[in-house]
Amino acid sequence: MSIDVNEFYTPERFARLKAFADKKDTPFVVIDTEIIDEAYTELSKGFPVADIFYAIKANPAPQILELLRDRGSSFDVASRYELDKLFAIGDVSPDRVSYGNTIKKAKDVRYFYEKGVRMFATDSEADLRNIAKAAPGSKIYVRILTEGTVTADWPLSRKFGCRPDMAMDLLILAKELGLEPYGVSFHVGSQQRDIGAWDAAIASVKVIFERLKEEDGIVLQMINMGGGFPANYLSKTNELSVYAEEITRFLEEDFGDDIPRIILEPGRSLISNAGILVSEVVLISRKSHTALNRWVFTDVGKFSGLIETLDESIKYPIHVEKGGELEEVIIAGPTCDSADIMYENHKYGLPLNLAIGDRMYWLSTGAYTTTYSAIEFNGFPPLESYYL
Ligand SMILES: *Cc1c(COP(=O)(O)O)cnc(C)c1O
Repeated sequence: MSIDVNEFYTPERFARLKAFADKKDTPFVVIDTEIIDEAYTELSKGFPVADIFYAIKANPAPQILELLRDRGSSFDVASRYELDKLFAIGDVSPDRVSYGNTIKKAKDVRYFYEKGVRMFATDSEADLRNIAKAAPGSKIYVRILTEGTVTADWPLSRKFGCRPDMAMDLLILAKELGLEPYGVSFHVGSQQRDIGAWDAAIASVKVIFERLKEEDGIVLQMINMGGGFPANYLSKTNELSVYAEEITRFLEEDFGDDIPRIILEPGRSLISNAGILVSEVVLISRKSHTALNRWVFTDVGKFSGLIETLDESIKYPIHVEKGGELEEVIIAGPTCDSADIMYENHKYGLPLNLAIGDRMYWLSTGAYTTTYSAIEFNGFPPLESYYL
């Protein structure tokens, strides 16, 4: 079986994973945490001055949180439940936490504040006023809207952030409300394949920094550049090192020697490549005697971890052990819902001799799979995961 599309899984690593996986019933994800460790090293080398705040939503497994805690990572937390999960592993001080969700209840802001968290994202006046009351004196960063929704495979932009002029008003208001106007954040969209998206965002941030300093005497100190760094799926991206070089150049062009504190919030790029989802073929059929494409139904689907196949946005590399002549197929999940079709427009080539009971290996599935899984649609249990 060739596994060469994934440079992260060496033959030795894959053999180790397979020896483990062969004893387990499908479907499940196996994550080789060594690969996460290497991704963390690569990112910190690419951005030596940046502070990494792991976006917990990508995969909140304690094994991952512990590894990243021990590597010195901080954490981008989106809810009180994620905060509880994070603090449950122990030895994470609250100054390593940022409450990065701009949509939150006042009582949840209070909860974070009581746990010692002092850094909050916002993008609206109502939320800012809540923070001023529930978390007095805290550091505030305002998220701006970004373009780049077309070139990101999983855009996050439109729902979050505000226009730069409003961002400036919010930072001024933050000061008036007794908060510390600390910085500006953006997220260029997840799996962002156009590195230029960071250039445009950094340029907007620069304008905000300058105007606030000149017109209002507010000196901002931090840029949170979000996530968006790539995992290895079928659609090609540049290497992370190219992202790092280019983005560093954009920062230097705009800020010269006076680069503020830089925060990164990677999720996907740290975790995805470490995971392989193992499923089994349940049924193979044709819709008519003359139909050109076979349907391959597998025991994992949109409702059990593969929601990012919506609109075929994320195309995971799929491997099977059989070789030989390939045929283009439609790939669908096991539930009684016709939305549970993963790939129909993009035709994957799978071997003609693929049979019921054969296993399928979905690469780069470490992030945004386990937590997106439904809890019992059609009675199917949530996606199982194991950590090597
Ligand atoms: C989801 C999210 C991230 C992680 O993005 P990736 O593209 O997975 O790296 C970072 N920051 C915020 C605020 C997010 O919502």
